[in-house]
Amino acid sequence: MDKYQQSQKNQLFKSDTHDPYRSQRFEGSAICPQCDSVYQAGNWTWKSPENTVIHDAQPVKCPACRRIDDNMPAGTLKLSGSFLLNHRTEIVNLIEHTEKKEKAEHALERIINLTDSGDDLIVTTTGIHLVHRIGHALEAAYKGDSDYRYGDNEYGLSATWRRDE
Ligand SMILES: [Zn+2]
Repeated sequence: MDKYQQSQKNQLFKSDTHDPYRSQRFEGSAICPQCDSVYQAGNWTWKSPENTVIHDAQPVKCPACRRIDDNMPAGTLKLSGSFLLNHRTEIVNLIEHTEKKEKAEHALERIINLTDSGDDLIVTTTGIHLVHRIGHALEAAYKGDSDYRYGDNEYGLSATWRRDE
C-alpha cells in the first residue's frame, strides 16, 4: 500500500467512525419497525435464522431508515455525459442490481433516490460504501472517469462518474 492509498484508507476509516447516524449505541438488541433490520452486538443486520429469536428487542429506527426519512444521504453519485443519455436504462439496471447485492450483505447500505437533474442522474445513498461499489461497477462495465471526495468536516462521500462517447 503506497502513501496515497494509505491516506485514502485513513480517510475512509475516519469517515466510518464519524457517521452521526451510526453513533447511537445501546445495550441489548433492537428491531427497526420500518425495515425489520436487527441491531445486535453493536451492528445492524438483516434478520437471519441465527438472530430471529430476540426476546428483549426494542423498536428503534435504524440509521438507514432515519437517513431516508430525513433525506440526509451519506453518499451522492452524479452521473453525466452523453453515454448516460444513450444507455440510461442499462445503467440504471446496473445501479439497482449493485444496490441489491450490497444491501443483502450490509443492511445500512441502500439507495435513497435516483433523480434526474438536467441531463445528469443523481444517486443518493444511506452509506458511503454503496457509492464506491456503484462507481466501481460503472467503471468495470463502461470505463469512464470517476472521482471520489470525502467530506472535510462532516461524514459523507460525493462521487462523480462521466463518460462521453
Ligand atoms: Zn430500518
